[in-house]
Amino acid sequence: MFLKWLESHFFLLGYNPVNHTCPRVIVKDFFNISGPSKLKAYHIAKCIVKYKGNIIFLYFIESISFLIYFIVGDILIKIGIIGGTGVYDPSILINVRHVETKTPYGMVSYKVGDFAGKSIAFIPRHGSKHSIAPHLINYRANIWALKKIGVSTILATAAVGSLHLPMKLGDFVLVDQFIDFTKNRVTTFHDGGERGVVHVDLTNPYCTSLRDKLLVVAQNSGLAVHSQGTYVCTEGPRFETPAEIAMFSKLGGHLVGMTSVPEVVLAREAEMCYATIAMVTNFAAGISGVPLTYGEVMKIMKQNTENLKTLLMDTIKLIDIEADCSCQHALAEYGGFKI
Ligand SMILES: [Zn+2]
Repeated sequence: MFLKWLESHFFLLGYNPVNHTCPRVIVKDFFNISGPSKLKAYHIAKCIVKYKGNIIFLYFIESISFLIYFIVGDILIKIGIIGGTGVYDPSILINVRHVETKTPYGMVSYKVGDFAGKSIAFIPRHGSKHSIAPHLINYRANIWALKKIGVSTILATAAVGSLHLPMKLGDFVLVDQFIDFTKNRVTTFHDGGERGVVHVDLTNPYCTSLRDKLLVVAQNSGLAVHSQGTYVCTEGPRFETPAEIAMFSKLGGHLVGMTSVPEVVLAREAEMCYATIAMVTNFAAGISGVPLTYGEVMKIMKQNTENLKTLLMDTIKLIDIEADCSCQHALAEYGGFKI
């Protein structure tokens, strides 16, 4: 009877009628309750359902399956930020709390906070102390975790080298294409077996609608911005040789970096809108004639942090979290992305 009532009123997310749990989301992730009540909430809250676009926590007393109360609130996290080199701190957010989410690829630790009335998840791609090398980032776990908590739009930042002289130090580039020169990365959630094989369309790998918003904001803020650019992704962590850069340039690359692939590909497979804000922090090897240093990258990054923050904040204000986009139906012909 109770289940019938529940099913008629809510869309259940992985609800298990045997033990009344919804194991896909851990309740403590979403609560910021201090003291003993935190423990209590974790132990008695057994189910999370979605109703009219909001996450609702249904509280059961264990084993009695009796609904004691529920909370309806706009706490669904729809926007994620993946911070690249130089962006380790979600300083634009308030009410920041630390969250861990379990995925089939391992645990992901990140922060959740609020900005402009929206809940936002923040993952520093290289870890909070830049301790994860580009080739060792757990890309699948990061994207899976964001998808699992409800994120549909990701803004990613990236420090990049320029191969194209008009893209100068400190300029922002709203990447629209990539060329993949990575060597040892898994670039799909679908390696056969239970999850099957999919061939996702990447005609426009970076969300066009999100890039349009970023462009409007950047132009209105007077930032030096390029509306498009081709990102060549290398394996790293070493920088490239001048011979490689000359080749990338001949192939049509404008920028070089080490992280956009497979992140952008996985985000599309997971049917999320994804855009990269690339910031030119150096000229690639052989372009400027001066040897490349990590210090050079960090110096430019630091100088431009405020501009990047403005760009992120003003774009988040423009994002309609209920809006639909073709990115969010990328696997429609395969029955959608399954988590
Ligand atoms: Zn999109």
